[in-house]
Order: sequence, then C-alpha cells, then structure tokens
Amino acid sequence: MSVIDASGLTKIYHRGAEEVHALRGVSLSVQAGEFVSIVGPSGSGKTALLNLLGCLDTPSGGTLSINGTDVTNLPESCRVIIRRAEIGFVFQQFFLIPTLSAKENILLPLTFSKKPVNESRAQEILDMVGLSHRADHLPHELSGGEMQRVAIGRALVDDPKIVLADEPTGNLDSHTAEQMYGIFEELVHKGYTVVIVTHNTELAHRAHRVIRLRDGLLEPDTPCSCPENP
Ligand code: ADP
Ligand code: MG
Repeated sequence: MSVIDASGLTKIYHRGAEEVHALRGVSLSVQAGEFVSIVGPSGSGKTALLNLLGCLDTPSGGTLSINGTDVTNLPESCRVIIRRAEIGFVFQQFFLIPTLSAKENILLPLTFSKKPVNESRAQEILDMVGLSHRADHLPHELSGGEMQRVAIGRALVDDPKIVLADEPTGNLDSHTAEQMYGIFEELVHKGYTVVIVTHNTELAHRAHRVIRLRDGLLEPDTPCSCPENP
C-alpha cells in the first residue's frame, strides 16, 4: 500500500516579481515500510519536496495523497491534523527548546495534540533513541548526535507512521551520522516508513531506494528493493 502518492507536483515560489520553479512535476509513490533517500545538488528542490510530503506546505500544482487521503488542497487547519496523526519531522537544525530537558522536548508534541503526558511513553521513546541516561539534560548539555536523537524522539512521540528527515546528519560528524542512520534503520524494521533527504551519498544507499532530484525534476529511478518490490 502507498502511504505517499504524489503525482506531477509543482512548487513555485515568488521572490519579488521573480518566479522560482522549485519543483517542476514530481511523481512518486512510497510504500508502507519503505526506506527512501532523496539526494540532489543544493537548490534542486529536496526541501521543497519534503515540505510538501510532510504537509508543511501546499503544492502549486499536481496531487498528493497521504495514507489514501487527498491532502493537495487542504487548508492549514486540516493539514495540521494530518501532520500530527501521520508524520514525524526531523530537521538538520534540531529545533529543540533550550529551556526544556531532553525528556520534556520529546514530550512536547503531546501537549500540542492535547494528549496526556505519559511517563512510560517518555521512557519507551528515550530507550528507542538511546537517551535514557540523558533524560533530564538540557540541550546545551548534549552533543550534536544526542540533540538529534532528542529531535527524532520528539518526531516519534505522537506515534506517526511516516518519518521525514531533512538532512538530519548535516550538522553531525560522519561517525555520528552513521549512528543516526542506524536509528532510522531500526525504525524501518519496526514498520515505520522513512524518507530522508541527505547530501551523503554513501549513507543514502543504506535506504531501499535512492531518489535523485535535479532542477526540480526526478532523475530516472534506481532499482527498488523495498519490501513489496524485491
Ligand atoms: P534544496 O533543499 O534541494 O537545497 P530547496 O527545496 O530549498 O532546495 O529550494 C529549491 C529552489 O527553490 C531553490 O532555487 C531555492 O532558492 C528556492 N526556494 C526555496 N524556498 C524558497 C522561498 N521560500 N522563496 C523563494 N524561493 C525559494
Ligand atoms: Mg534543503
């Protein structure tokens, strides 16, 4: 089953009088449980695409379904509901709240979705991202890798089935970046669908499928060894 179904997606940004065609017709399907990497030069539209797939932004053209729901033209008030239910987002810059501990940062989305804050859920997530021993530390007391683990935990706490990550290892050394990929691989083993934008072509190939973007268009697909298409 496709959890992401995009057809002919375009995205035009307006910069003053200038139109920037960030995506020029991107079609792609991602299956449940698939691990996909998106690579491409800077400015090729990777972030634009991930923001559309994550319902953070709306396309200028084309169609997009998430878990069978057509989200193409939904207003923000509806997209936020889909985002909370279906999607966990991880960013290069971590975006942690500096005054909250690792555990409090992880639990924050539950406050936004008005769910009860649940200690055992916090422990489960801390274990999942390997941070039980850092639960009460503030972000400035953590390494880059640990901060990104917190951010991954925060993406998971509301129990989405799709995890989207935009250059999650961009600020990390290569050893830490590899460890981070290990976490994403574990998530895939647990049944999550994971889509990662990366500059690191070596790590990209640890996914089931590598998608290449250039000038807002997909380059021909590399073979897919995803679970439903071995
Ligand atoms: P990538 O993530 O692959 O580096 P982006 O998706 O961020 O690329 O950007 C694709 C193109 O869209 C670039 O030319 C970029 O300058 C442009 N762009 C991205 N966001 C905006 C914006 N908010 N306003 C205007 N142009 C933008
Ligand atoms: Mg980008």
